[in-house]
Amino acid sequence: MKFAVLSGDGIGPEVMSVALDVMKVVSKKFNFTYEYTEALVGGAAIDAKGKALPDETVQICRANDAILFGSVGGPKWETLPPNEQPERGALLPLRKIFGLYANLRPAICYKELIESSPIKSSIIPNGFDMLVMRELTGGIYFGQPKGTTQTANGERAVDTLVYETAEIERACHIAFKAARNRRKHVTLIDKANVLESSLLWRKIFKQIAAQYSDVQTAFMYVDNAAMQVLRNPSQFDVMLCENMFGDILSDEVAAATGSLGLLPSASLAEGTFGLYEPSGGSAPDIAGKGIANPIAQILSVALMLEYSFNQLNAANAIRGAVHKVIAKGIRTADIASPGCTKVDTAGMGQAIAAEIA
Ligand code: NAD
Repeated sequence: MKFAVLSGDGIGPEVMSVALDVMKVVSKKFNFTYEYTEALVGGAAIDAKGKALPDETVQICRANDAILFGSVGGPKWETLPPNEQPERGALLPLRKIFGLYANLRPAICYKELIESSPIKSSIIPNGFDMLVMRELTGGIYFGQPKGTTQTANGERAVDTLVYETAEIERACHIAFKAARNRRKHVTLIDKANVLESSLLWRKIFKQIAAQYSDVQTAFMYVDNAAMQVLRNPSQFDVMLCENMFGDILSDEVAAATGSLGLLPSASLAEGTFGLYEPSGGSAPDIAGKGIANPIAQILSVALMLEYSFNQLNAANAIRGAVHKVIAKGIRTADIASPGCTKVDTAGMGQAIAAEIA
């Protein structure tokens, strides 16, 4: 197991160091070895090398089998031209260079934290646990033609929503494989009542589904899905979405959990290469204080173990430990509640590591 560690800016290095400590404990417990190489990214890379994604960093990523990413950005670099800023200058090129076409965002609302969710606890008495799988490199954000032209009456703007068979097939395979490690259910989110591209998604989805007869399927229009996330999120296991629907719904689902600091994500390429990172940003408001919640970064390690290194048991041990620690009332400031045991970043990492050990 070889991975690149790109900690980045703000709370990135603080939560990364704790996540690497957890990795050490889990490797001992599950008897595997690994090595990692650190590299500069984001604002830290701009300061040292003049570029958010230096060539050396790309080379280090290429020489490894996965990227464990922290977060990038902060006020210091916000006045740079948009394409040179940490997020756009590092994450978008990484997606392109490594062909990261599938974005997975598991969203768990733990039973013990349902009060943090904006959804009434009577609707989610046991919390919820779903996975939004978003196609990341196709669809309306990239389709051609695209652009604005002058017309006799003003301007005309065009975006093109286009998908081809192979793009849909590979996204479906990821969703079905993910479902096999979960509750074995995939809902395809589309707008097949009005969009041609959605009809193609349905057709191919059904063909691929035939290869996963142990996984159940459902279809839902995206407008209904936006409503169902609020009315009955527990009905979803894996939600498979094309790019724009997934962009919107994954944020809605994340907000529904109520605890952004807990959510990891994976961006996967063909094969087993992937980039794993917290869903949140670099949290400059709390950086350097040692109070950030490291759980999203720790759960990103779990995703890396599952998807790049085929270590599902180790991944599940991390997830189980995180849940146990939360159930015990151990909390960082962002998820603290009356009567809990408040810990700092390192304390949360130690509690999770102890639970795994
Ligand atoms: P943010 O996610 O960094 O912060 C939003 C709020 O959530 C803040 O109050 C922050 O303190 C809190 N928060 C986030 N993660 C937390 C954690 N682990 N523990 C405790 N609290 C946490 O979003 P923002 O403020 O919009 O952006 C800050 C910077 O991060 C910007 O420069 C932005 O461009 C960048 N950003 C980077 C990424 C990325 O690296 N993938 C993603 C989003 C934003």
